[in-house]
Amino acid sequence: MHIAILSRNRQLYSTRRLIEAAQQREHEVTVVDPLKCVMDVTSHRPAVHHRGDILPRFDAVIPRIGASVTFYALAVLRQFEVMGVYPVNESVAIGRSRDKLRSLQLLARAGIGLPVTAFAHSPDDTKTLVRLVGGAPLVLKLLQGTQGRGVVLAETTKAAESVIDAFRELDANFLVQQFIREAGGADVRAFVVGDRVVAAMLRQAKEGEFRSNLHRGGSASVVKLTPQERATAVRAAKTVGLNVAGVDIVRGKEGPLVLEVNSSPGLEGIERATGKDVAAMVIDFIEKKARPHGTKTRGKG
Ligand code: ADP
Ligand code: MG
Repeated sequence: MHIAILSRNRQLYSTRRLIEAAQQREHEVTVVDPLKCVMDVTSHRPAVHHRGDILPRFDAVIPRIGASVTFYALAVLRQFEVMGVYPVNESVAIGRSRDKLRSLQLLARAGIGLPVTAFAHSPDDTKTLVRLVGGAPLVLKLLQGTQGRGVVLAETTKAAESVIDAFRELDANFLVQQFIREAGGADVRAFVVGDRVVAAMLRQAKEGEFRSNLHRGGSASVVKLTPQERATAVRAAKTVGLNVAGVDIVRGKEGPLVLEVNSSPGLEGIERATGKDVAAMVIDFIEKKARPHGTKTRGKG
C-alpha cells in the first residue's frame, strides 16, 4: 500500500515510528505536511498538491494533526476523503475530539461515566455553574486546550469565581468540572486501536501538581486495566468515531470516568512505558480495514 502520514514534522517520535512500522511491512510511505498542501477543490478530479507536486491517490492516510493547525489540516484530510483515500481517523471524528464540550456531550449521551461537568456563557450564571459541579474544589478547562495547558484547579469558590471572570474577560470558552480528588493526581491513558485497548499506562502527576500529562512532568508506568476500564475506553473512542484514540480515564470511587478522547495520541510515552510496538498495531489495523471511499461519517457533523 501507499500510506500518507499527515504530519508537520517527520522527525517527531510518533511520525518516525509510524514510518518505520509501515516500511517494515513493505509499504510505501509519504509524509505530507498539511500546511504545505494546496487543494484543488472544485475540479472533477479533486487533488492535493504538496510542495509543488501533485500527490498520488494514497491507499490510506494517517492524520497526526497538532492542535494549532486543526482547521487547515482537517480541510486537507477532508480533501483526501473526497478523493476516496481511507482515513485512519476521519475528519469529522477528529473535529469532535478537538472540542471538549462537544465530545463530552456525545459521551454523556452514550451513557459513559464522566466527571460532573457544566458550561455557561453568561457571567450572571457563575454561581449556578459552581453549584452544579458541587462547589470547590473544581476544575476549569479551556475547550480547546491540550497537554494540560488550560486546565486549572480552583481550591476555593472565591478562586473559582476569579478564574471564571478572567477567562470571560479573555472571551475564552471553558467548562467547569467536578474535581476527582480520589484520583490522587493519576489517570490512565488507554490506547485504543479498532475495538481493542492495545496498550495502557498509568500517569502520575509530579509532586504538587494534579495534572498527570507527561508534558507537565508526569511519570508513566505500565498498568493493568479492569475489564470495565477497557470497555469504557473502547466505547468512548467508538462514540467519538475514532479508530485510533488515546482515552484519558480517572479512577473514580464508583468506576472509570472519562476525561477526554485524544485523536492524535502520542506514541512515545506509551511505547516507552509498555515496551509495545503500538505503531505496528496501527499499520496492522490499516492493512485490515483500508478500502477506497470507506469514509463512514460523510455528511455528518
Ligand atoms: P488536556 O487536554 O489538557 O490533557 P485533560 O482534560 O486531559 O486536558 O486534563 C489534564 C489532566 O488534568 C488529566 O490528565 C488529569 O490528570 C487532570 N484532570 C483533568 N480533569 C480532572 C478532574 N475533573 N479531576 C481530577 N483531575 C483532573
Ligand atoms: Mg489529556
